[in-house]
Amino acid sequence: WAKADGKARWTLFDPERNAHRMTRQALSSTLRPAVDRGEFTLEYQPLVGLGDGRAQGVEALVRWRHPQFGTLPPNRFIGLAEENGAIVELGRWVLERSCHQARAWQLARPDEPPLFVSVNVAVRQVWDSDLVADVAGILDETGLAPELLQLELTESAVMGSAGRPLQALQALSDMGVRIAIDDFGTGYSNLAYLSRLPVSVLKLDGSFVRGFRSPEHPNPADETIVEALVGLAHRLGLTVTAECVENADQAERLRRIGCDTGQGWLYSRPLPADRVPVLLAGPPMTGEEGERG
Ligand code: C2E
Ligand code: MG
Ligand code: MG
Ligand code: MG
Repeated sequence: WAKADGKARWTLFDPERNAHRMTRQALSSTLRPAVDRGEFTLEYQPLVGLGDGRAQGVEALVRWRHPQFGTLPPNRFIGLAEENGAIVELGRWVLERSCHQARAWQLARPDEPPLFVSVNVAVRQVWDSDLVADVAGILDETGLAPELLQLELTESAVMGSAGRPLQALQALSDMGVRIAIDDFGTGYSNLAYLSRLPVSVLKLDGSFVRGFRSPEHPNPADETIVEALVGLAHRLGLTVTAECVENADQAERLRRIGCDTGQGWLYSRPLPADRVPVLLAGPPMTGEEGERG
């Protein structure tokens, strides 16, 4: 009895779990003030045309430069921010920063085709905030054309989007902002339903490319599925981006399948804003020089 009791109590006060819980609480309660203190920063990862190896846009990815815990990746705090609602303020900051940055690059390279910026939007931003007014205000204030802004939502965010969220997506799309479905293929969405929504881009989840035939994965099923998905998406008027393109072989297969753009370590890791123009000034990103960034 004593032993079992002791063990149960030990589990209850497991110091590691306790420390983990306290860290989560500390992060959760400081998210909002951290937005005001300017502790967040964005990195940008190019979205590259598979045909010509040119960057067409960049995805903005948030990081938290935490004074105590160092630089934290989004999977450490986005979920917490969604739970406690801080995602609304954080998300607004990300949108504002991204649009300012995209406009600054455009002004700095007036003779080049401008890059679009693709911003991740959490479901709560569509439900709990006035996303449409925020986006309109930010575009107005930064001078960025709506066509140069793309919003990435997950399947689950749009699948049940009747009523208000659907109206928001429609209004954004009417404004000229592109809507992309992020991590496509990981949820339950069906293309027939998606095609009736104001969505214009599918971002195929990284698991598809990871499943391409290789010495370790002799089964070509994922390649067949991607080919069918790309064909169907194109016929429905959607463009397709592949995530997690890590090697030249994957890029070549995607290109042959007809996928439009790719994103991944083959082309570049996510970069700080000032490194993006350096990358753009370089040769096309065919990946022949190997991994960059
Ligand atoms: P995501 O939107 O699917 O972003 C792509 C993630 O894949 C990024 O991770 C990126 O660094 C990583 N990645 C890119 N290329 C490769 C590759 O070739 N191989 C592999 N293995 N990974 C690659 P990151 O930056 O850690 O972001 C993780 C997730 O956090 C994002 O997934 C997105 O869902 C979320 N997130 C990031 N920034 C924001 C934001 O501003 N707002 C919201 N709501 N969510 C964000
Ligand atoms: Mg994304
Ligand atoms: Mg994604
Ligand atoms: Mg993903």
